Amino acid sequence: MKIYNTLTRTIEEFIPWNKDLISFYTCGPTVYHYAHIGNMRNYIGHDILDKTLRYLGYNVKRVMNITDVGHLTSDSDSGDDKMVSSAKRENKTVMDIARFYTDAFFRDFELLNNRMPEVVSPATANIHEYIKIITKLLDTNYAYKSGGNIYFDTTKLDDYYKLTNHKADEMVVGVREGVEEDSSKKNQNDFVLWFTKSKFEDQELKWDSPWGLGYPGWHIECTGISIKYLGEYLDIHGGGVDNIFPHHTNEIAQSEAYIGHKWCNYWFHNEHLNDETGKMSKSNGAILTVSVLKEKGYNPLAFRFMCLMSHYRRQLVFSYDALDGAANAYKKLLNKTSNIKFGENVSKKDYQLWNDKFKACLEDDLNTANALTVLYDLLKSNVNDDTKYHLISKWDEVLSLDLLKKETKKAQNEEYILEMIKKRDEAKKNKDYQLADEIRSNLLKQGIILKDTKEGTFYELDEKIS
Ligand code: AMP
Ligand code: ZN
Repeated sequence: MKIYNTLTRTIEEFIPWNKDLISFYTCGPTVYHYAHIGNMRNYIGHDILDKTLRYLGYNVKRVMNITDVGHLTSDSDSGDDKMVSSAKRENKTVMDIARFYTDAFFRDFELLNNRMPEVVSPATANIHEYIKIITKLLDTNYAYKSGGNIYFDTTKLDDYYKLTNHKADEMVVGVREGVEEDSSKKNQNDFVLWFTKSKFEDQELKWDSPWGLGYPGWHIECTGISIKYLGEYLDIHGGGVDNIFPHHTNEIAQSEAYIGHKWCNYWFHNEHLNDETGKMSKSNGAILTVSVLKEKGYNPLAFRFMCLMSHYRRQLVFSYDALDGAANAYKKLLNKTSNIKFGENVSKKDYQLWNDKFKACLEDDLNTANALTVLYDLLKSNVNDDTKYHLISKWDEVLSLDLLKKETKKAQNEEYILEMIKKRDEAKKNKDYQLADEIRSNLLKQGIILKDTKEGTFYELDEKIS
């Protein structure tokens, strides 16, 4: 498989540290608010990579954190703790906020058919890992104590900027107006590993540490959780493009300083989904979530389909027009795929040929748009239905669009079936039994069984269509 690696800025052949088990880490959400559909595009991208690796035959161990402490409103350790200000806003405890928005996140995550990572771990559950790492970084002089906090000294590394390929002065994290710059730092891009005496006197969550009561910075959690569950040799680490600097740059710095060798080989970054104003933000009031789309009558999988129609490294602009277009195309696609019945008469030759075409698209830096084109081509082709069924079933393990699912078919076809039942009732009323029978047998061919009862006609779906 070929995949774009942010670290080398090239599309590379994927060669794992250990081909028997791929280690894959995803930066999880900061659970101070709902995850918007932009965040969800990022997790769909990660899900496609995860499932593609499995489809290609790899065993994968995937780990994701939940940021429930330490992420400040500015990525440069300034501003307020996002969790604390959210708790104040909603008059709840930080832990209540974390629980509520973590649940909301996973509800939407599942509505999109994303696969749950093997390990999901909140930042607050791994404090001793961070203390262990920071202790060593202090011992080896990569870290220093200043103004009560512990900082990582970014000048200790020759290649601190290797993920961004930029020079130091180009990569200074912006300091917002009204936010004082942290005068305890030795260098502008040094970052906090552990806050002890800080400006957040009202921080609810604090833990004992060798440096006093305090709490971890944002970046250290991903290093701690990743090394704890995936060891010192990581294959893939991913996030959105905004994570490249400073978050992932800082993760590499502290992780490699801690373990003393290269840590992660492939850095996977998803481009953003923005709205027409150019930003899709969690902190600017109205939040467009997958659940909101569902309430508006959209199938969440139509949103997934929309994401898969574009490449994960391309920016995508969200509009309801674009979503309507995707929802329509998705519905038409389902009308075709869900009519294909299960059968055993599979042509091995065709299966191989078409599966190779589909695989080649995914192996080409996860080109899901081309993979969908292969699906459309298959549907148009004269490959027999049984072979089509088996191919689509396999491909849907990656696409996860419920292409063959009974319930999807039911939902999508309900309107049509009810219309047919009405027509048949009318035909019977007019004593046109031939038309009534024709309608019944036509539906039966599509796996829809009509049942006449005293209360009226109902339908069931043929169990053979799985
Ligand atoms: P957060 O909850 O803010 O930590 O963000 C969760 C993930 O969503 C991060 O990996 C971000 O890089 C990613 N992300 C944030 N905004 C967007 C966006 N507009 N489009 C795609 N991904 C995003
Ligand atoms: Zn992270």
